[in-house]
Amino acid sequence: MPDVPHVFDLLPDGASIADGVLVVGGVRATDLAERFGTPLVVYDEATLRNQARAYRAAAPDALVAYGTKAFPSVAVLRLFAEEGLGADVSTAGELAFALRAGLDGRRLVVHGNNKEDELLRGAAEAGALVVLDSLDELERARGAGVERFLVRVTPGIEADTHEAVKTAHHGSKFGLPPDDAAELVRRLPSCEGLHVHVGSQLMHFGASLMTVDWVAQFAARLRSELDWTPRLVDLGGGLGVRHVVEEPSFTIEEFVGGLVGELRRAWHLQQLPEAQLALEPGRSLVSRAGITLYTVGGVKRASAATTYVTVDGGMSDNPRPAMYNARYAAVLASRADAEPDGAFAIAGKHCESGDVLIERVELPRPRRGDILAVPVTGAYTLAMSSTYNAVPRPAAVLVAGGDARLIRRRETVDDLLALESD
Ligand SMILES: *Cc1c(COP(=O)(O)O)cnc(C)c1O
Repeated sequence: MPDVPHVFDLLPDGASIADGVLVVGGVRATDLAERFGTPLVVYDEATLRNQARAYRAAAPDALVAYGTKAFPSVAVLRLFAEEGLGADVSTAGELAFALRAGLDGRRLVVHGNNKEDELLRGAAEAGALVVLDSLDELERARGAGVERFLVRVTPGIEADTHEAVKTAHHGSKFGLPPDDAAELVRRLPSCEGLHVHVGSQLMHFGASLMTVDWVAQFAARLRSELDWTPRLVDLGGGLGVRHVVEEPSFTIEEFVGGLVGELRRAWHLQQLPEAQLALEPGRSLVSRAGITLYTVGGVKRASAATTYVTVDGGMSDNPRPAMYNARYAAVLASRADAEPDGAFAIAGKHCESGDVLIERVELPRPRRGDILAVPVTGAYTLAMSSTYNAVPRPAAVLVAGGDARLIRRRETVDDLLALESD
């Protein structure tokens, strides 16, 4: 792409600039905003399929289960199922989404550190693989009729990521410490394998590779203590994505290639019988496929250093800046080829000072009515959205080949009022 190369690198595969307007999947962003309203989350089908295919190509024999929580969407789950993916779910709600998308129990992995009975019964009925997260859970799961199990073990490895998305450290609320995991395998020799998930938004491979070595050693311990070896090793999700050009970026091929190689090496070293691999990517499948479109409300100079551009959404549709100090870039979609002429802060419309989506971004001076696009917002945005300030949640559309399809309708104030009683 021409002129301003950097921020364009963050756009979906099917994005381009035509007549100064950002185009995604062959549809002009300004047309999308007009037809569906804003804020609007636009998913590029080509990117979703390319990311899924990259996982399948890097690990052809693996079960790749989409981490549904990144963006629970029946249309996206169905699209991934067409690409040979399964799904990882952790609540009865997410399970219902996966079943609605037509996913087969053999491709479903069920998680959760406090699985409700309804989830366990649903998992049993679907024939899904249930990942045990505590000693007590075994009897409850068996009582619900579950027959296929993995045991989630916590290796005590600190991933270099935000505290809120680390999951494999000592004292994590997820998984079992090694001795308890071994006890669970002793009680359940029919268990199919082991599960680990180091954390999310990982920007280094070190913790993941260490985890693979650790799991191989743990599997060797279980073989000698219990004469049991895993038939399946689920390494969870976690591959990070960059949201601004200053952050490092990795390809799925590099990450999965590294994991597969390390698994083979570590398994060979411990002379373990070959095990099937499972992966549970969420963010890396959907994040870059998604762009959020906002309409600019106005521009206000707050100090010599800060000029705010207000948009018609904010922390209700994307809580990540407020929750994780996440950074984002922006493109003025309605004048995408104009030269930047200043640095602006992008503020949401909520009654909270922390509701700033971007602290500083270079843009052509926005005007009221311009469409602002925030790239790499396909994961953990709508999925974590709220109706704070009684603001209804945005719609989502899927774009491809010049067509846009509504995959989630915009919430309305009437939807919110329908929950109320006088
Ligand atoms: C959140 C989660 C995932 C997906 O993580 P990403 O970072 O989005 O890839 C996979 N497995 C488990 C157990 C999770 O909790």
